[in-house]
Amino acid sequence: MKMSQLFSPTLRETPADAEIISHQYMLRAGFIRKVAAGIYTYLPLGYRVIRKIEQIVREEMNKKGAQELLMPALQPAELWHESGRWDIYGKELMRLRDRHERDFCLGPTHEEVITDLVKREVNSYRQLPLLLYQIQTKYRDEIRPRFGLMRGREFIMKDLYSFDRDKEGLDESYKKMYDAYCRIFERCGLEYRSVEADSGAIGGSSSHEFMVIADSGESVIAYCENCDYAANVEKATFAMKVENSKSVLQDLIKVETPGVRTVAELEQFFNLAAKQILKTLIYETEKGFVAVVLRGDRNVNEVKLQNVLDSKYVNLVNEDRVKELIGCEVGSIGPVNLQEEIILVADREVPYVLNAICGANETNRHYQNVNYGRDFEANIIEDIALVEAGDPCPKCQGPLHITRGIEVGHIFKLGTKYSAALEATFLDEDGQARYYEMGCYGIGIGRTAAAAIEQNHDEHGIIWPVSIAPYHVVIIQVHDKEEKQKEICEELYNQLTDNGIEVVYDDRKERVGVKFKDADLIGFPLRIVVGPKTINDGTVEVKIRKTGEQLVLPLTDVNSWVNNYITSFLGK
Ligand code: ATP
Ligand code: MG
Repeated sequence: MKMSQLFSPTLRETPADAEIISHQYMLRAGFIRKVAAGIYTYLPLGYRVIRKIEQIVREEMNKKGAQELLMPALQPAELWHESGRWDIYGKELMRLRDRHERDFCLGPTHEEVITDLVKREVNSYRQLPLLLYQIQTKYRDEIRPRFGLMRGREFIMKDLYSFDRDKEGLDESYKKMYDAYCRIFERCGLEYRSVEADSGAIGGSSSHEFMVIADSGESVIAYCENCDYAANVEKATFAMKVENSKSVLQDLIKVETPGVRTVAELEQFFNLAAKQILKTLIYETEKGFVAVVLRGDRNVNEVKLQNVLDSKYVNLVNEDRVKELIGCEVGSIGPVNLQEEIILVADREVPYVLNAICGANETNRHYQNVNYGRDFEANIIEDIALVEAGDPCPKCQGPLHITRGIEVGHIFKLGTKYSAALEATFLDEDGQARYYEMGCYGIGIGRTAAAAIEQNHDEHGIIWPVSIAPYHVVIIQVHDKEEKQKEICEELYNQLTDNGIEVVYDDRKERVGVKFKDADLIGFPLRIVVGPKTINDGTVEVKIRKTGEQLVLPLTDVNSWVNNYITSFLGK
C-alpha cells in the first residue's frame, strides 16, 4: 500500500471529547471516526486491526473444535419473553417495532437465539458437546458510551455458546475456552490476568474475566503476588484476621456526641481506631429496607450485598429518607434496637468487634461497649466488605494488591438457566429428556484493540504488538524527488510483500519529519528509511518502534532480517 493512497486521515490536534489515550490515538492516527455517541466507522487501518484480532480469535476457537456461524442482530421479542429478559434487561436493550407493530430488539447478546436454534435442531446426547460461535455486531444502549471502541453502543463481539449433557461436560468446555482465551490474549501481545468474577445479571455459577492491565481500566482487581489468586473487587474476598482479644465485655452505655457524625470524628472523640467503630448504612431494595453494619474501616461491596440479599437492586437511602425512617441523622444510625421490619445485615467481621462504638438511632448520641449477640443480632451475617490493598489473600494470606484493568473477555457457566427457560432439551442415553448445561464466552474485539493501545503507546503514538498491527513495516523515502531512492523503496516493497510482510511505502511529497511523525503515530512495528546513505554505501536504517533501537543493515540483508523479526511474533 502506498501512503499517498492510504485512506487514513490523520489529525494534528487531539479531539476534545477523547478522554483516554487509545481513543485519542485511534482518532488522530485515522483508525476510526465517530458517527454518533458510541457508534463508529472503522477506517481501513482500524478495520485491519479488528480483522487481525478476529482472525486470532477464530483460529483459537476452531482449534478447540468450535464451529463458526452467524446469527442475526435483529431478534423477535418473543424469544426474549420466553427467557424473561424482555422485562428485566432494561434500557440497555435497543428495542424497535416493525411495520406490523411487532416488537424486536437488536441483540446485546445471543443466548436466546442460539438456545432456540439448538433446541430445534439438536436432539441427542450423541451430538454433544457442541461449541458454536460467531463474530458479530452487538447493540447495547449504554448509559455512558465513552472511550471510543472501549464502550460503544454498537460493537463487535465474539460470542461462543457451549452445550453439554452434564456438569462435567460443561467443566470441560469451560476449561477449553479458558485455555483458548489465554492463548488469544498472549498472541495479541497483551499483558493480562484472568480473574474470578461476579456472575451478575446473566446468572450462573462460575465466571472469569480476562483483564488487560491498564491504569485507564474501568475495572478494579485484587490479586496476590504470592499465589495465583486474582478476582474482580466486586467478587474478591480476603482472609479474615480474628484478633483473639481478651477484653471483657463492658456495660453498654449511651454517650452524648454533639456534632460527631463521621467515622473519623468518632475516632477522635473516643480515641479509638476505626475498626472499633461500627457504621450502619440504610439501603432500599425490592424486599424492603436493609441496614448494613460493618467496621468503620471497611466499605460496603454493593455487588456482594445484592447477591447476599438475592435482590434486584440495592440503593443507598439519602439523608432525608433516613431521617424519616429512623428518626435521626445519618451519622447516628446503629444496629441496636433498630426497627424490626428493617433487615439487618452484618459483615462477617462485626461479631468479632468487642466493646464497639455505634450510633444510638438518636441524633448526637452513640452507644459505647456494643457487643454482637448481647446487644444486637443480625438477620444475615456474611462477607459484604470491599477488599482493600494489603488485606490477606484468601488462599495464602499474602498481601493483596489492587490494580486497574480493562475487561476484554468474560466466560460464564450458565448451567440450565436458558435451556430450562426455553425448554431446550436433548435425549440422554436412557431416553430421558434433559436440559443442556450451557456456557457463554465473549470477547470484545474493538475493546481488545483499544486495550492494546492503552498498554502499548508512548507520547509519539501507538506501539502495536506485531500480531495485531495494521501493517508490519513502513518504508520511508527521505527525498521524494530522488529517483534512485524511489527505485530502491519499490524494490524493497516488492520483496517484502512477496514474503507476506505487510508494508506501507510512504511515497508522499512531504518532509521526512512529517513522515516520521506519522509513522510513530500510526505505530508500525518497523520503520525502514531509504535515503542518501542507501545510495552511497548500500545500507538502510531500520528502527524498532517498541524499543527505539536503530540498526544499520546492508540492503541485501534487510529482507531476511525483517522477515525473521516479524515472523518471530506471529507464532501460532
Ligand atoms: P462491562 O461490564 O464492561 O459493561 P459486560 O460485563 O457487560 O462488560 P459481557 O456481557 O460479558 O460484558 O460482554 C463480553 C465482552 O464484550 C466484554 O468482556 C467486553 O470485552 C465486550 N463489551 C461489552 N460491552 C461492550 C461495549 N459497550 N463496548 C465494547 N465492548 C463491550
Ligand atoms: Mg455491560
